[in-house]
Amino acid sequence: MSGKPPARGARFPASLAQRGALAAPAPAGTLLRPQRPLHEAARDAARAVAPSGLGLDSAPVRQRMVQRLRADGVQCEPVLRAMGEVPRHEFVDSALAAQAYEDTSLPIGLSQTISKPSVVARMIEWLYLGESARARGHLGRTLEIGTGCGYQAAVLAQLSTSVVSVERLKGLHELAARHLHRLQVPRCRLVYGDGMRGHPPNAPYDAIIAAAGGDDLPAAWLDQLAVGGRLVAPARSPDGRGQTLVIVDRRSDGFTRRLGEGVQFVPLKSGTH
Ligand code: SAH
Repeated sequence: MSGKPPARGARFPASLAQRGALAAPAPAGTLLRPQRPLHEAARDAARAVAPSGLGLDSAPVRQRMVQRLRADGVQCEPVLRAMGEVPRHEFVDSALAAQAYEDTSLPIGLSQTISKPSVVARMIEWLYLGESARARGHLGRTLEIGTGCGYQAAVLAQLSTSVVSVERLKGLHELAARHLHRLQVPRCRLVYGDGMRGHPPNAPYDAIIAAAGGDDLPAAWLDQLAVGGRLVAPARSPDGRGQTLVIVDRRSDGFTRRLGEGVQFVPLKSGTH
């Protein structure tokens, strides 16, 4: 197994959308295990031990993560391929790099976490099951709320014609900008602002995805969703306890809404900081 140091600054691969590599997504169905609470992620990070004999930048390490995602029920090949190409370890603190390909959420600073890979893959798979994405074989114009460290934006960039990603914390907006610049991630525009308002200048969007959950979905997100488009976001569960993914489709005659898996995301907050 390769023992090479991580290839920081490596050029980002051409998008799967560009390469015409996208196939129709498979039906959905698995229940996600909830993400770990922040204090647990921080505790585990403090005792990070490098996996023996595995070069973190090596494709085989990521392929093992992809195999686990597949075993956990993610079936959409383009999503699995994108997850296999984006170097997750480049988006976390080097002290946490050893855990980058485990299915765990990890702290990224300012009390926020990078979502665990199975949640990222599953949410993007939901987007793929949307009407226009299925017809086209890619996500089209994508809006992400909650840029965080930029990892999910990089995965989305592989599968979209353009990505706009909004972050309300300046420190994380700047961190993500550094990550995406270093990796030369294409087609990605980062915006510092309150994502509860969406981002009207580039609306409408074919795909909208949120990495933070509030009581319900802000009206601006629905307004900015294109006809044929799909929105996937966490929101408070109907019983008031915990969070559940909400999947909204916009059709010419209105919106349809359904519930997905139980999840655990950081709170959606208004304003900037
Ligand atoms: N997709 C990210 C996950 C980040 S965690 C990644 O791959 O790293 C969720 C992020 O949502 C946090 O950075 C938090 O600051 C942000 N957030 C919460 N409310 C927001 C809002 N109203 N607008 C924009 N970002 C928000």
